[in-house]
Parts: sequence; C-alpha cells; structure tokens
Amino acid sequence: MKDDRLQPWQWPEAHWRKIVNRVRAGRPLRPEKWQNGARCAVALSFDSDHETNELRDGGESIGRLSQGQYGNRQGVPRILEILDAASVSATFFVPAVTALLYPDEQRQLIDEGHEVGIHGWIHERNSELPLEAERELQMRSADTLEKICGVRPVGIRTPSWDFSPNTLAITREMGLAYDSSLMADVDCYELLMDGSETGVIELPVEWIRDDAVYFNMNRFAALRPYTAPADVYDIFKREFDAAYREGGVFQLTMHPHIIGYRSRLWILEQLIDYMRGHDRVWFATHADVARYAKANCRLN
Ligand SMILES: [Zn+2]
Repeated sequence: MKDDRLQPWQWPEAHWRKIVNRVRAGRPLRPEKWQNGARCAVALSFDSDHETNELRDGGESIGRLSQGQYGNRQGVPRILEILDAASVSATFFVPAVTALLYPDEQRQLIDEGHEVGIHGWIHERNSELPLEAERELQMRSADTLEKICGVRPVGIRTPSWDFSPNTLAITREMGLAYDSSLMADVDCYELLMDGSETGVIELPVEWIRDDAVYFNMNRFAALRPYTAPADVYDIFKREFDAAYREGGVFQLTMHPHIIGYRSRLWILEQLIDYMRGHDRVWFATHADVARYAKANCRLN
C-alpha cells in the first residue's frame, strides 16, 4: 500500500508544533532551600522489574526469569540492608505483576519507610497500547499496589520511561502528584499538556543516571556490559557533585537485578557514604521531593 503521508520535512509548522507541545516542561521548580535548610535533595530509586522484563514481550526463558527472581531473593534484601544502615529512604517503582509475585517484599518496603510507586502492569510499553488498555492497566496497577501495600501510590515511572500521547492525561485523571519518566531538566518542573498546566510534577530521570545502560547484557544479542563499575561510580558521583554545587536534585535510577551484585553494590554503598559526608543533604523519596518542590515554588 502506498504511503501518501507527508514526510517530516514536508510537515507544515502547525503539525510539528502540535507534536512537540503534547507534553512539555513548564515552569522550573527548584526551591531556594530544601527541607530543613538542605542545599541538595537526593532521590534514589529502584525499579523492581524482576521477571516482568522477560514477560512483557511474551518471553518464557527460564534463565532470564531466574535473573528476575534474583532481584527479589538477593537484590532487594541487599539494597535494603545498605539503605537501612545509612537510614536513607528511597522509592521503589514496582510493576503490579512483580507486586503480585512478591507481596511480602512490597510490604517490607513500606514498613521500612520507603515509597512504592507505579511502574506499569507487566512492564508494558505504553506507546504500543490503545488508550483504553493503557488507562485500564494504569488504574489497575495503582489499585493492586494499594491493596498489597495498604498505601495508595502517588507517583508513576512508566516502564522503560515510555510515554504514549495519552499517558499524561491518564496520570492527571488519576490525580497522581508526580511522574518520573521524562528528561527535560535536571530539576523538578511542572508538566504542560498541549500548552496547558497540569499540576503534575516531573522529577526527571536520565539514562546517564541509570545502572541499566552501563551493566545490562543479553547473551543472544550484541548488548554487553561495557563500563567498569568504578567508572559508573565516577559518573554518578560527578552528577551528585554538580547537583550539590547548584543546590538541585540528584536523582538516580537503579534495578535490584542489575545493581544487586557483589561486584556492584559497593557503588551504592560508597555513594551514600560520600553524599552523607556533605553538609545539608536531604535524602528523600521521590514523592517527598516532588511535593516539597511544588509547595515551595508555588504554582499559580
Ligand atoms: Zn522498569
């Protein structure tokens, strides 16, 4: 069939402007000071994908599923031990299927003062879903996490940070306080939808601050770890140093089945030690950072 759509270089201005404006960064939200006079906010997050990385594409590989189970058996407990020793709260973004497989893991997170946020149903890619399916899955995921954790999630990180043209409208309809999947800034900002304010706060991520891009590996593809753990530590540390200097947010994304290994966990441990060696660093959940930024920068 002949494709008679216009090529991007033929698009009229109104068309490319409409695409760019669907979801856009609005006003920046960097408070003068963070909670209790802190000069820097540290928001650590762990995406507990576990087996859903394999299941979401219909995969049934027993080997890859076992790597997912490592996230529950070894990854999360080792991470919690480090966080607990340092009295640091973090946010865990958990697909509903992970939560159903491991409800005790989620309840332990809540008991120990961490936040559990939405991370899709089965780590589906939102941009491949029709509106109604995406909406139903996002709502069912929130209900499932609430039922298991006893607390209703207030934030979302879309699986693989994949955003459909409908994702923000669903997030706003659900009354969620924040999203943490987009990359338009280093500090928090308000999300605009088709040019209008939404009241939804973005706590931005970046692949640079994600363990997966440095360590992920697929036996049957060209994907291999290519960055040494010491180099990953150096990148994360430099990201923190600059956030501290600028008085902003240092946000980090890790995965229990990726960072949770003997040769890598020291990165998390040493980084926390290093950050705690600085004056006035506020370690907080994503929800607390987003809430504080919104309350102290005032949206109209
Ligand atoms: Zn994920």
